Amino acid sequence: ESGAHVPALVIGTGYGGSVAALRLAQAGVDVQMVEMGMAWDTPGTDGKIFANTTSPDYRSYWLRTRTKQPISNFLGFPIDKDVPRYTGILDAEQFSGIIVYQGRGVGGGSLVNGGMAVTPKRENFPGILPTVNPDEMYGTYYPRANAGLGVNFVDQAWWETVDCYQFARVGRKQAQRSGFPFVFVPNVYDMDYMKQESAGTVPKSAVAGELLYGNNYGKKSLQKTYLAQAKATGRVTISAMHKVTSVAPAPGGGFTVLIDQITTNGDPITTKSVTADKVFFAAGSVGTSKLLTKLKATGALPNLNGEVGKGWGDNGNVMCGRANHIWDPTGSVQASIPTAGIDNWTNGGVFAEVAPLPTGIETWASFYLSITKTPNRGQFSWNASTGQVDLNWQTAWKQPSIDAAKTIFDKINAKEGTIYRTDLFGVYKVWGDHLTYHPLGGAILDRATDNYGRLQGYSGLYVIDGSLIPGSTTVNPFVTITALAERNIENIVARDL
Ligand code: FAD
Repeated sequence: ESGAHVPALVIGTGYGGSVAALRLAQAGVDVQMVEMGMAWDTPGTDGKIFANTTSPDYRSYWLRTRTKQPISNFLGFPIDKDVPRYTGILDAEQFSGIIVYQGRGVGGGSLVNGGMAVTPKRENFPGILPTVNPDEMYGTYYPRANAGLGVNFVDQAWWETVDCYQFARVGRKQAQRSGFPFVFVPNVYDMDYMKQESAGTVPKSAVAGELLYGNNYGKKSLQKTYLAQAKATGRVTISAMHKVTSVAPAPGGGFTVLIDQITTNGDPITTKSVTADKVFFAAGSVGTSKLLTKLKATGALPNLNGEVGKGWGDNGNVMCGRANHIWDPTGSVQASIPTAGIDNWTNGGVFAEVAPLPTGIETWASFYLSITKTPNRGQFSWNASTGQVDLNWQTAWKQPSIDAAKTIFDKINAKEGTIYRTDLFGVYKVWGDHLTYHPLGGAILDRATDNYGRLQGYSGLYVIDGSLIPGSTTVNPFVTITALAERNIENIVARDL
């Protein structure tokens, strides 16, 4: 309610925000969470909460009148289509040189992501977060995060036999024939549920190709894990369809937070003003970076330091497809949940997820999302003439990622006598170098904040999401975001309450 005073306000309901809310509530603090996306708890016109990946509709995109699918073309045809403008679940946020995909709604990225729950190899950790003690992370916080997220492995004996992982078995065979290490990867999707889907005894979700626009069953999104636990404390309130626009020191202490309540057209209905003793920025790497960059530049939070907005990276994401021979079909039924990857980080700086391409027909395509080592980092800046925050990323900065991915897929193509698909990202375009699923950085730990996420320049302001991580996690990021949030909030609860 406008005029309210809250002890703790959390901006965003993704991984960082959910961890913060749960641990603060368990420590006896009342928490107000503010989420600009929808609650995603009510079925749509077809009786389902979420739309299928193969048939995007009004629920699928954040305030767009046309879909912006990561794979934009198929066999020469553009596949994007018009949709009604709505506060849908997937934001394809366009900056000058990159589209950043993000989840919108209560649960943040957990609503739309592949659920791959990967803990980085310990030997790589010092390169990811150099000022964080690896013993504590691997001894305490990674295990805590994995438990809290409900991480589980696929039953490998089952995986070997089912139609829906034919694509992954082809991926394994070809990786191994070229001498690359193939690894199984844990996930937060309930793998027992998937077995039942596959057997036809429960409603299908992953096996029906649901993913990018939400999973109706099976996926343990944050709504079912951290947020359910947080709500059960009785101390956490979540306001969906509310967007934070400003945070500034309040005259009597604490912070004045301005919040727009929005309609499904994205238009503000009312502006509310709330006073909070502590504010946690958990709006995601892009959301938090945009807010902090704007608030520093426009004088709401002038004491933030010069590191705000810096160190943003794409986790080296690049996509590609390969065209297999007729004797290597990848299956007309593909589970939307990835279970495996090619781990060549040590030798080539690439961790490539063997990804599904759930089109419902046989395509003979192998599809990969590579996470690569790249030196390039972008910076956010305030554009006073447009009133927007810009990001200076350039598409050409993906070249090191393409070069790294080629060390795997050129070799596999040579060995198999196959070629790249050139039809998935445009016409005669091999590399999906126009996007990232893994935005990281913009308020780097121990630079924009102290070593636990306390923003420099103010006491009572915190960053607790992917913006703390300097641009790369060497693997899919959400387990590291969750574990770092667990580490930081423990220190904050112990010292700042
Ligand atoms: P987010 O989860 O992005 O949460 C931020 C929340 O804040 C959002 O709900 C947003 O709507 C809200 N918000 C933003 N601004 C405001 C504001 N001003 N006011 C109020 N609310 C606001 N990672 C993996 O580890 N494994 C995977 O398999 C995987 N697959 C992915 C697939 C896709 C298609 C995508 C898009 C991402 C994937 N990711 C994956 C990445 C992962 O989802 C993100 O790294 C993660 O969600 C980031 O967590 P976060 O807490 O930093 O922020």
